[in-house]
Amino acid sequence: MSVAERRQGGLHKENIRVVLVQPSHPGNIGASARAMKNMGLSQLVLVKPADFPSGVAVGRAASALELLERAQVVDSLETAVADCGLIIGASARRRSIPWPMLDPAGCARKILQAMVENKVALVFGREDSGLNNEELQQCHFHVQIPANPDYSSLNLAAAVLLVCYELYKASQAESGSDNHYVAELPDGDWDQKWSTGEKVELFYEHLERVLIGVDFHDPDNPRQLMQRLRRLFGRIRIDEMEMNILRGILSNIEKAINDRRH
Ligand code: SAH
Repeated sequence: MSVAERRQGGLHKENIRVVLVQPSHPGNIGASARAMKNMGLSQLVLVKPADFPSGVAVGRAASALELLERAQVVDSLETAVADCGLIIGASARRRSIPWPMLDPAGCARKILQAMVENKVALVFGREDSGLNNEELQQCHFHVQIPANPDYSSLNLAAAVLLVCYELYKASQAESGSDNHYVAELPDGDWDQKWSTGEKVELFYEHLERVLIGVDFHDPDNPRQLMQRLRRLFGRIRIDEMEMNILRGILSNIEKAINDRRH
């Protein structure tokens, strides 16, 4: 795509999906769909919803019914974000290993930069327990909506609305009064796409195997090694070419270990 074509941008909102992980209340699914449509988004993915399809969800979706009809239902977050080059998880709390944080406006800027050439996932957690550590560690960034420190946990659909609102607002600022998402150049006009969630997961599996193979990593005494490495690589974001290089290095290390054993 030429720079001029990218500047003209057009609609890339189909590259953005909202992922709800194990929502327990169908009303929240419907209200999230409505919030998405209000803010110009259309791709809803549900990971193991407790109750879906549901009349309650339909009622709360109002005129956003088609989002529910087209919603994709999947078994795991990994599947939901497998083809995404940017994954952002919404979380009300700081975790034991702090992750790169964004506020909703910063989150919107990141997405506008990435969405021309990458699929982007905005991930929201369960009503009762949010996203677990493993899920949060699949994200490049966490977005936190500033709120009363004594009660910072918003209703799920309200959180979806606020994050999508900032995205809508930022896209409007970029496109003037035009009612479209017009994206700016992808991160500094990068020459490669970002590696997708699926490829990054395969890389971490490969890396862990090699680290065990060279006796650096003891799975019985992991000391948060893999979480720390995930955070390290997540902070950079790896592009497709870099991923090929990293996988090649790991394969050669494995080969060298095997050659020495024989
Ligand atoms: N009790 C849960 C919060 C669940 S609220 C917890 O403590 O983690 C359901 C989901 O809404 C969360 O998983 C998160 O994705 C989103 N959410 C709620 N409040 C938020 C906030 N202040 N910032 C970012 N996301 C929030």
